Amino acid sequence: MKKSFDILIVGAGTAGMACAIEAAQRGLSVGIVEKSDHIGGAMHWSGGHMSGGGTALQKRKGIDDSPEDHYKDILRISKGTGDLKLIQKAVQEAPKTIDWLDEHGFEFAPEAPRIIYGHVAYTKPRTQYGIDKAKSILKVMQTMWDSLKGNIECFLEHPVLGIDQVNGKWTRIVCSTYEGQLVLTGDYLVITTGGYGSNPDYFRAKHPDTPLMSSTYPTATGDGHKMLEENKGMFRMADLHLPSLGGMELEPGTGRCNFNEAWAMVMTSIYRRPRDIYVNLDGHRFMNEDETDADIRERHVTKQKSWRFWVIFDEEGLMAKDENGNENPIVIGWTIEQIKKEAQRGKCIFKAHSIEGLAESTKLPYETLSRTIANFNRYVDQGEDPDFNREHLEYKLSTAPYYAILVYASVLVSFGGIAVNSDLQILDTDGQVQTGIYGAGELLGLGALSGNAFCSGMAITPALSFGRILGQSLGK
Ligand SMILES: Cc1cc2nc3c(=O)[nH]c(=O)nc-3n(C[C@H](O)[C@H](O)[C@H](O)COP(=O)(O)OP(=O)(O)OC[C@H]3O[C@@H](n4cnc5c(N)ncnc54)[C@H](O)[C@@H]3O)c2cc1C
Repeated sequence: MKKSFDILIVGAGTAGMACAIEAAQRGLSVGIVEKSDHIGGAMHWSGGHMSGGGTALQKRKGIDDSPEDHYKDILRISKGTGDLKLIQKAVQEAPKTIDWLDEHGFEFAPEAPRIIYGHVAYTKPRTQYGIDKAKSILKVMQTMWDSLKGNIECFLEHPVLGIDQVNGKWTRIVCSTYEGQLVLTGDYLVITTGGYGSNPDYFRAKHPDTPLMSSTYPTATGDGHKMLEENKGMFRMADLHLPSLGGMELEPGTGRCNFNEAWAMVMTSIYRRPRDIYVNLDGHRFMNEDETDADIRERHVTKQKSWRFWVIFDEEGLMAKDENGNENPIVIGWTIEQIKKEAQRGKCIFKAHSIEGLAESTKLPYETLSRTIANFNRYVDQGEDPDFNREHLEYKLSTAPYYAILVYASVLVSFGGIAVNSDLQILDTDGQVQTGIYGAGELLGLGALSGNAFCSGMAITPALSFGRILGQSLGK
């Protein structure tokens, strides 16, 4: 077993694999150390929505776009927050990264590129994704990886415990093995350990006022952040945190909601017209349910107690069809049958034959809830919602049974991260460059690359791009 490498990478996920592939293609020896029993990291769960301006796919489809237009859109959406130098670097590299996958047989979904409304929309169809979410990216990378195995030594189930320097240069890592500890060395260290949303203690330390309902990949436990902070690495931008809307906690008390299985996508007006109302834990409506701007919706929920709310609807709303007469379930991606089954289970969707019964099962205050519903029904009758100016007032809540879904503002990506300069070198708390050690991926924080906002594709695309840049540039 080799113990010394040209490049030593911690974390065989999105950014780590991209770095390893590029470096191995240049003939460098790569050691990559992974704590879990598989490679791929968050790509196993991620939606895999990438964004890049001026890609070959866009050109094939006649879409005129560029990194400059992408940058302008990000500045608009994020209101100029984030690390603008890193964002510049990411958008310049993004089309090359997407083309790289394209050239290696990436299977784009037929409708891509698209404007995505789950986040604040870009001005152009720029979100590009595969037929099988991020697994489509992993599939292409796995093939490249397999062909380069001669140059890549991958240590699975070797959690890295610490990093170490020799003569002022970071070159060593210590990892745990079944037999004890193993020390590996590299001319360059690259830390790509992902985010920290699956580590409640670390998350709370960084976001003391933010309730945590996590949808992040289970390995996102902030190991790299901790390792670097212990060595004076600079943590920043946690204050830019914004949650994602839609998570359902299938098993109450777990603190987790699964993005792929239980996402009560409530992007009404764009993906479906509202037949429901949202009430907070006090039983009050708090926003216009047909608000289309994802950012506004997210911020409304962060002003509610515990960052959660109830989606309330009735049987008529549940069964309502779309304009083309097709089934149009309240939970996008589910069938009506699934919703009914889940309501029967009574863990995150509740059903009752009266408003009183619904209040009892959801623990919402009955008096307030029934007044909220009565007011709303009156607004439907009068065709006007004086509270929130909601446009869609087609459905009253008056046909039993009644339903309630508990929806959380959840953590999908970590916003805080470790500071790097524009060469991706880790910076310490004094802003000084740490020699020999680099970072990429969610370790850097979504706040750095997307600011205080969700810009479509600005987590996975920079993770791939920055991983690739390091693999192309480090070493001999
Ligand atoms: C459900 C979901 C949907 C998403 N959808 C999108 C999307 O559509 N578009 C978008 O841009 N972004 C999306 N993201 C975010 C994006 O996928 C991630 O930010 C990105 O993939 C992270 O890449 P990474 O390389 O930083 O981390 P990962 O891919 O998570 O890789 C990190 C690797 O490091 C390993 N590791 C951690 N600690 C150690 C240690 N101590 N020792 C050794 N190894 C370690 C982990 O096991 C893991 O394999 C989504 C994320 C989730 C969870």
